[in-house]
Amino acid sequence: MDRHEVGIILKYTDSLSKRPRPLSISTVNSSSTEEFMNAFDVESFNTAVDIAAGKLSELLENDEIQGVVLERPNTLLAAARALMVGTKDSFDAKRFAEILDLYIRTGIKVNSRGYMARQFSSVVPVSAVFDMVSAMAPQPASYYEAGQLANVADKLIAEEFGRLLGWELGRFDMVTTSGASLANMTAVLVARNRKLGDSWTDGVRATGRGRGRPAIAFGAESHYSVSRLAGILGLGVDQVVRMPLNDRRRIDIDGAVAALDEAKARGLDVFCIVGAAGTTSVGAIDPLEELAAEARKRDAWFHVDAAHNGALLVSDRLRPRLKGLELADSFCLDAHKTLFVPALCTLLFYRDPEAASAAFPEKHSYVFDPVEDEMSRFQSGIKNFECTKRPAILNLWLVWALFGRRFFEQKLDYLVDLTRQAHDHLAAQPDFEVLHQPESNILCFVHRPAGLPDSQLGTLQLALRDRIRAEGRYFVSKVELDGSTVLRIVMMNHQIGLFDIDALINEIRRHAREIRRDWVGESTRNDNKPHIWTVEKTC
Ligand SMILES: *Cc1c(COP(=O)(O)O)cnc(C)c1O
Repeated sequence: MDRHEVGIILKYTDSLSKRPRPLSISTVNSSSTEEFMNAFDVESFNTAVDIAAGKLSELLENDEIQGVVLERPNTLLAAARALMVGTKDSFDAKRFAEILDLYIRTGIKVNSRGYMARQFSSVVPVSAVFDMVSAMAPQPASYYEAGQLANVADKLIAEEFGRLLGWELGRFDMVTTSGASLANMTAVLVARNRKLGDSWTDGVRATGRGRGRPAIAFGAESHYSVSRLAGILGLGVDQVVRMPLNDRRRIDIDGAVAALDEAKARGLDVFCIVGAAGTTSVGAIDPLEELAAEARKRDAWFHVDAAHNGALLVSDRLRPRLKGLELADSFCLDAHKTLFVPALCTLLFYRDPEAASAAFPEKHSYVFDPVEDEMSRFQSGIKNFECTKRPAILNLWLVWALFGRRFFEQKLDYLVDLTRQAHDHLAAQPDFEVLHQPESNILCFVHRPAGLPDSQLGTLQLALRDRIRAEGRYFVSKVELDGSTVLRIVMMNHQIGLFDIDALINEIRRHAREIRRDWVGESTRNDNKPHIWTVEKTC
């Protein structure tokens, strides 16, 4: 046991015996003091930055088609464990480089033209650099004294979006949260506290506001952060109304009215209606104006989960697709998805400037001053679930400050156009079926080679996703639509062109042929197995 370990054990023993004694420099000898000071050494820092910058530059320059390299978990566990040595006296640049290599190798290649799978951004590089700066020189964003620029940036970004929404300055509010899941929860909590008067203090009682059991309504394809809310907020997951979808996979307004009426007849008091602007599966935008009117008629709160498509607000051409969003009582959008900054950075808007404070009405805390002043009025902590919070808004503000709104607009316009072109191109192929008109940058489709029985369609899509992913060149995702598996692409990378879609189509065809051969091989090896593919009719 070396002396450094003795120092650590002393501290541990102290905490066990409940005699607080801070680990003072004198409990460790001078050589181990140097050892831990090494971790803060400027030279080591510079070396680390150089190594990281070199590797990230390579990543940006690399134009290979790459998806994701999937390691088996136990293999990765062993590789990562082997890197946990931690005995060197000085900063081990080589090991640092190895750890970065392992990280980069196992990560999604979001800057590659093979990446079409998910909603994670390929981030604007300068915002990633700023993310490092804000980690090293933190401005925890909840309190003004700790996060001055972060709280100011909240206001500036809110102003920009207020203009785009036609909301009057000073007459609305915006807070940032760590993810849309948390934003959805916070907004529906506001709805609960506002519509069910005393639920914060007394709990959600069966009586609610005297109109039956409190309930919320959302679309049949809502994100799971919404469908969980009835459980989280104490309503009970049986107290939900699922509004049916139409053939464009948007909430069907007539079906929604019928479902809401039926719920009322069952003794449910729907105090909050949640719509979506960009469902996770296909990116569908619900009829926001009609839902807002329905919510108003029923004295319900109207929240829109615009995590994915809320960013279309920045585009003059695409903004009309969000018509009605300005009527929402609250909505959120994920800047770490479609505004291309590092995760997590979610904006949560309230049409009423007083609403945000209703989320967490408890004001007695050692950190909040009893009287508001010029500074504390700027801080968001009181309106947020998080206590310590990364100043993620600064990544967005920085890009906005450097490049302006037009930057986001151009990138989104391009991606949405590309997705429409991909739709048309796939629709023109005899062996592909597109399943919807894309409303943003998400597109779902299936590959249906001639002769494939309907019963095998879903199985083939799943097998295709698996094979494509395993090969590590392209990365596409799958979703379930009406109970069957379909393929899904999300265009987040502006370097992708129609040429890449064409290449993907050929990859899919090649994999399908191989899967087909394997299936035939399996069924001839084992005659008891059902014959799941007939090769004769294909090719
Ligand atoms: C991504 C997404 C969410 C979840 O957002 P996080 O930021 O990952 O917490 C919620 N709703 C929709 C529609 C989404 O696309």
